[in-house]
Amino acid sequence: MTEYKFETNCIQAGYKAESGEPQVLPIVQNTTYRYYNAPDVAALFDLESSDFMYTRLGSPTVNALEEKMAALEGGTAGIATSSGQAANLITMLNICEAGDHIIACANIYGGTHNLFGVTMKKMGIETTFIDQDISKEEIVALAKPNTKALFGESLGNPALTVLDFDKFSGAAREIGVPLIVDNTLASPALCQPLKHGADIVVHSTTKWSDGHATCVGGMIIEGGTFDWNKYADKYPGMVEPDESYHGIKYVEKFGKQAFCVKLRAQMLRDIGCTMAPMIAFLTFQGLDTLHLRMERHSENAMAVAKFLQQHPMVDWVKYPGLEDDDDHERQLKYMPKGASGVLCFGVKGGRAAGEDFLTHLELASIVVHVGDIRTSVLHPASTTHRQLSEEEQLAGGIRPELIRASIGCENLDDIIADFDQALNKVGK
Ligand code: PLP
Repeated sequence: MTEYKFETNCIQAGYKAESGEPQVLPIVQNTTYRYYNAPDVAALFDLESSDFMYTRLGSPTVNALEEKMAALEGGTAGIATSSGQAANLITMLNICEAGDHIIACANIYGGTHNLFGVTMKKMGIETTFIDQDISKEEIVALAKPNTKALFGESLGNPALTVLDFDKFSGAAREIGVPLIVDNTLASPALCQPLKHGADIVVHSTTKWSDGHATCVGGMIIEGGTFDWNKYADKYPGMVEPDESYHGIKYVEKFGKQAFCVKLRAQMLRDIGCTMAPMIAFLTFQGLDTLHLRMERHSENAMAVAKFLQQHPMVDWVKYPGLEDDDDHERQLKYMPKGASGVLCFGVKGGRAAGEDFLTHLELASIVVHVGDIRTSVLHPASTTHRQLSEEEQLAGGIRPELIRASIGCENLDDIIADFDQALNKVGK
């Protein structure tokens, strides 16, 4: 089979029409699939056949999206989920159970922090949150015999820190656990974590993958790199017989796709957080233009960041594409094609000024979202984090004046003019 380049895969991977078939991926809107005899159905239940059976476990449109995302990330297999939250949850539940422990960066998306620190804790899975700047030795020292995963975001949301892949993959290898990386904010167009030592990649496809703010979804991609047999004692579920599938051993039977087959066979079966065919269709369409959009989002965000840096009403700007940014070196190393479309900045005058700025915007929309083709902004202190005291907000890295902007693909002059006029009206 021809190996295509990334841009070609955005458009061509996952679905190819045969003669007389629809040119565009069809939406197969079915809950179930017909068979002529019982043994054929029995083969599905024994995982002897990968044909479709029931949409909770997989369906053709969703499968096409899984194949496309796996191709874009350079992985061996993918599993789509109903949301990014579900992707992170079942990734962990696939290898962790009550009594286990994971290590995760502290500066990750708040929803994931809550999932790990509160909900999974109630399930008996403990998380140690770390400052991502600690040394490899310090990370390794935090591992315990029950530690099952190391987790970080390639580009932190909203911290906009770039993960030090060399350090984290080195630590994961020393501990003997998979490195799991949420690649949502960077997208595979800018960063491919599997090439930098990650073993499993997760996504909220809700963001850049869809790219048009139309559907919530998630994805897990396996790299096929982690040696489950070497750590068989730690991951019995991967290597020992699964009695619910007549004693199948996932790694022995499915090799480099074992993690994803287990996710489908156990997690989609039992938790049911499946992506719907219509959502897969829309996300698949979104990915067709991912390479083009990410280039433009990054270019526009870079120009807006530079504009903001010299604006008298702006106190500070955080964008890893800026030469003087703390994460710039890592951005050049791990995502050299661009620093993505999200940036944060502080309006002079604190919380009131931040709130005031938003009210004057005309083009940019105030929405709880990033990754849309439309420029979107949020003032976390007065919205997503408003229930917290100022001290609590600061502890979470949310300064009172912080504005998070997801720069869209509109004309750059129009975006800058909108930010400029809104900044000039602050306090007036
Ligand atoms: N991971 C990251 C980095 C996110 O930014 C988000 C949502 O903002 C999620 C996961 C959760 O995704 P979803 O909203 O699709 O459940």
